[in-house]
Amino acid sequence: MHVTDYELYAVPPRWQFLKLETSDGRVGWGEVYTKWHFAGDSEPATRSAVDQLLHQYVLGEDPSRIEYLWQAMYRSSFYRGGPVHMSAIAGIDEALWDLKGKAAGMPVYELLGGPARDRVRLYQHVRAHSADDVADPAAAAADEAREHVKAGYTSVKLVPTDGLEIIDTPAAVGEAREIVGAVRDAVGPEIDVALDFHGRASKAMARRLATTLEEFQPMFVEEPVTPEHDHALPRIAEATTIPIATGERLYFRGEFRPLLEANAVDVVQPDVSSAGGITETKKIADMAETYDAAIAPHCPIGPLALVASLHVDAAAPNALIQEQVVVGDEDAMRYVENDELFEPTDGYLDLPAEPGLGIDVDEDRVRELAGTDLGFDRSPGHRADGSVGER
Ligand SMILES: [Mg+2]
Repeated sequence: MHVTDYELYAVPPRWQFLKLETSDGRVGWGEVYTKWHFAGDSEPATRSAVDQLLHQYVLGEDPSRIEYLWQAMYRSSFYRGGPVHMSAIAGIDEALWDLKGKAAGMPVYELLGGPARDRVRLYQHVRAHSADDVADPAAAAADEAREHVKAGYTSVKLVPTDGLEIIDTPAAVGEAREIVGAVRDAVGPEIDVALDFHGRASKAMARRLATTLEEFQPMFVEEPVTPEHDHALPRIAEATTIPIATGERLYFRGEFRPLLEANAVDVVQPDVSSAGGITETKKIADMAETYDAAIAPHCPIGPLALVASLHVDAAAPNALIQEQVVVGDEDAMRYVENDELFEPTDGYLDLPAEPGLGIDVDEDRVRELAGTDLGFDRSPGHRADGSVGER
């Protein structure tokens, strides 16, 4: 059996679904990020990377040799790593695992050692509200958190600040405190409230915010600083009892290693569709386990990326919780025939039961909507003096 062909579909809202075909008539699916693609006529950088990796290393090869093909795609690319290369590898890797599971007649997690848990816990996002769109941002966040709890979720996550000065005022810190306090009051102590600073804080403000918000006992604080300042995480971790989480902008074991060695992180958050696929993310999870760190995979994209994450969550003993944006989203479910897969019970999803990734993609629908312009605007966020800040 060998890989004969592929198709990379660009579908709304801005997702890419990869289909691999084999000589014995099987198909495997994966999801590829659209990284590095701004509005305009150009194609996502990841599309070119997928084309080149498949032609150079995968077409004509035996798809069951996942580790070999992964190593070929990674090591043979002399200038390796980063968001584009590792997202392209990730989508291909997921499709290879889908093929392997279908050939074996087993869900992928069975091939990773079998399920370490019966179901996977999810969290829901509370949107960031600002005084520009609602009269009372804290009350709006609290209302939204209450709705998620009513729907059965036991954990919510919010970004408590929409941008900070390098050193900001007590008022800015107070605003964040008001929002997080309102959410904590609304949901009570039985519900987890996770925070995401989204890399918007300097290391100084990250310490100040974390120590201020500690009284609400957040589940974790995500990206207290941007990844290039992860060197500051040990100091931030020393300053607060809030568990430190990061990793959606890290793409390989080697980038997590120094954080684990420095005891700077409690929760690693690689993205399966961004960090080399199921193969690499499971290795990151295993490495984290040896440092008593949990894994909470990042996943703000489509249903194929989510289902790939569920297999890692199922197999990894240290999986804490799963991010997702597609549960309950009809536009996302139009691509999925067996959408019962994404119906949570008490904020948990059952493990996929069908062979491979376990998702039946509605290919007619995918074809019908393919060809979408996936470009998106990513204009700079500004500080008060007009300089560029994080957003
Ligand atoms: Mg994040």
